[in-house]
Amino acid sequence: MAVIFEKSVPGRRGVALPQNDVPVVGEVPTAYRRGTPLRLCELSELDVVRHFTELSRRNVGVDNRFYPLGSCTMKYNPKVCEKVAGLEGFVNLHPLLPQLRRGGMLTQGALAVLYELEQLLCEITGMHAFTLQPLAGAHGELTGMMLIAAYHRDRGNRKTEVLIPDEAHGTNPSSAATAGFKVRPAPTDRETGALDFQALTGMIGEQTAAIMMTNPNTLGLFNSEIQRIADLAHRYDAQLYYDGANLNATLGRFRPGDAGFDVVHLNLHKTFGTPHGGGGPGAGPVGVREHLAGFLPISRVVKRSDNTYALEYDFPKSIGYIAPFYGNFLVLLRAYAYIRLLGADGLREAAENAVLNANYVMNRLKDVYDVPYPGTCMHEFVISAKRQLDACGVKAMDIAKALIDAGFHPPTVYFPLIVREALMIEPTETESKQTLDRFIAAMRQIAHLCETDPEAVKRAPLTTSVSRPDELRAVKQMDFAAL
Ligand SMILES: *Cc1c(COP(=O)(O)O)cnc(C)c1O
Repeated sequence: MAVIFEKSVPGRRGVALPQNDVPVVGEVPTAYRRGTPLRLCELSELDVVRHFTELSRRNVGVDNRFYPLGSCTMKYNPKVCEKVAGLEGFVNLHPLLPQLRRGGMLTQGALAVLYELEQLLCEITGMHAFTLQPLAGAHGELTGMMLIAAYHRDRGNRKTEVLIPDEAHGTNPSSAATAGFKVRPAPTDRETGALDFQALTGMIGEQTAAIMMTNPNTLGLFNSEIQRIADLAHRYDAQLYYDGANLNATLGRFRPGDAGFDVVHLNLHKTFGTPHGGGGPGAGPVGVREHLAGFLPISRVVKRSDNTYALEYDFPKSIGYIAPFYGNFLVLLRAYAYIRLLGADGLREAAENAVLNANYVMNRLKDVYDVPYPGTCMHEFVISAKRQLDACGVKAMDIAKALIDAGFHPPTVYFPLIVREALMIEPTETESKQTLDRFIAAMRQIAHLCETDPEAVKRAPLTTSVSRPDELRAVKQMDFAAL
């Protein structure tokens, strides 16, 4: 398919601007004018509509396919959340509107949403206070690590290291390093898939600023030793960090704050109703226990005695600004709508269905694929294609590509790094049994094809406009990607 610039015809226009009917006042000085015209494509409105409609049809998303991508899963995004996020009164708010007087009442509704969302997230996670400012999961992690650094500085602690399990999401070590810490990977017990407590005990010391965990971890396994890990961390005044990007595993069932975690970040663009993919926008709120609340970024929303809301900036120990204005407000608004829509029972049910669906699919696949940790999983599980690779030379990547021909978005592949030929599957909470059964049938069919005609699996996908692009070249040479 041609890129839009190749369809350009000199002089063709999509819109006609009316004649200027006001006098021209002054001219832009020559120094500030472009020397050459801007390179824009020249097309009719119909050309543009057809081009982008065609592109959107070639795209895959939750609205047209089952999308079992593990870890960074696109969960269900109720359309009503989009409707709420499109309400005029919210969409057209200027971020610099005054809070009170002279139009201030215009912002009270937005501030109330922020205030109440903070309360709801505190209730859901068992934390004391939240900042809604971070603009993504990784940004939340960085904020959390900065809070921990500020806490230790304030206490006069000399801490240099953060311990992170070796199966962790890649953003964990990079966030800790960006905040100035040395990262040490803590080993996972290869038998159980859980953090090796003995090894952790050997690594922790006065130099440890934090232990950064994901629970359930990226293998989809819940660690029930958190209390022991928390006690160990706190003996050294190390802070226990919870990566709650995928909270749909535990909503209403487990609160990180009750278990001893000091800091938690959530991905509202995974668990709480905002579509993601293609790079944005997201929100990664950070919750803390009481002893860290004074370090939270500004601004913070407060409720005053006359029941009005205001932004407060006077927190002398705050780490300062980490995002402009209100964070990604419309993402926060979707999360607020999602939580209010489901209520406490609905959120718990979402977690239960997520776990049930994952266990159902795992158990229906474990006779044809290796499942390195076959016990009860949480919202996701990891299988390995090593049996297929050893027997017929078919890799995890080939199986993922074959799934595209069968009409499914492939799962995450080659992550977590500690599982050979990993395929990480998260069916999510909202898929019907019929959809899960179709996916299971396709996975079993591919396993069968690996034995009978492995070359066919390696040739997939045959139904897409591009089959197997050179991924490196596709990133470095954009016009190559647009074959
Ligand atoms: C997605 C994810 C992140 C990072 O979130 P971004 O919004 O992509 O920065 C961190 N940890 C885990 C476990 C995740 O799944």
